Amino acid sequence: MLNIILMGPPGAGKGTQAKRIIDGFNLPHISTGDMFREAIAAGTPLGLEAKAIIERGDLVPDEITIGLVKERLSKDDCKDGYLLDGFPRTIPQAEALKAMGPEIGRPVNLVIDITVPDEVLIERIAGRRVCPKCGASYHVKNMKPKAEGVCDRCGGELVHRKDDNEESFIVRLENYYTSTQPLVDFYKKEGLYHHFDGMVGYEPLYEAICELLKEHR
Ligand SMILES: [Zn+2]
Repeated sequence: MLNIILMGPPGAGKGTQAKRIIDGFNLPHISTGDMFREAIAAGTPLGLEAKAIIERGDLVPDEITIGLVKERLSKDDCKDGYLLDGFPRTIPQAEALKAMGPEIGRPVNLVIDITVPDEVLIERIAGRRVCPKCGASYHVKNMKPKAEGVCDRCGGELVHRKDDNEESFIVRLENYYTSTQPLVDFYKKEGLYHHFDGMVGYEPLYEAICELLKEHR
């Protein structure tokens, strides 16, 4: 059973690992953003409700997000496992996920948390440059484009995103830890928590995650 929650702060390399895991183990990637878009496009009752709330400019309440997760995890493509990304974010959401597990027959059995020291995350993010045209991402020291300030892929002009500066990133990071630390404790208590060191490099990290997943497949 590979019913997985993937956690990690911004800049830890979670996106890269998520992509490798879903390709390598043929799992659906369930991110809350995509889930909202799909439910709204499909016009499900919860999707329509969410749409009205988003259009009003209000925050989608927990019951709806939880309902959507339940709807999504009940779908056929999740019967052999799933990779949940960006959910749960709070203890009430984690409790709700635990409660729906037996009901839909697909309880979470692995929580993967990728961590990287703060100073490394800050360096990665502060040096990040992105191409607004194609979405490619570079780093002023670790992944330089061939010509300074120009995208290798499409020739677009690289920019330093506003919320990638050190001060606002530290705030994002603090918010992340404040909201996820209770989740770490929750899943440790549940015996589902697995910690991975994001400093080992992308390839060794994926191999380590693979080993855990193969044990549980
Ligand atoms: Zn580009």
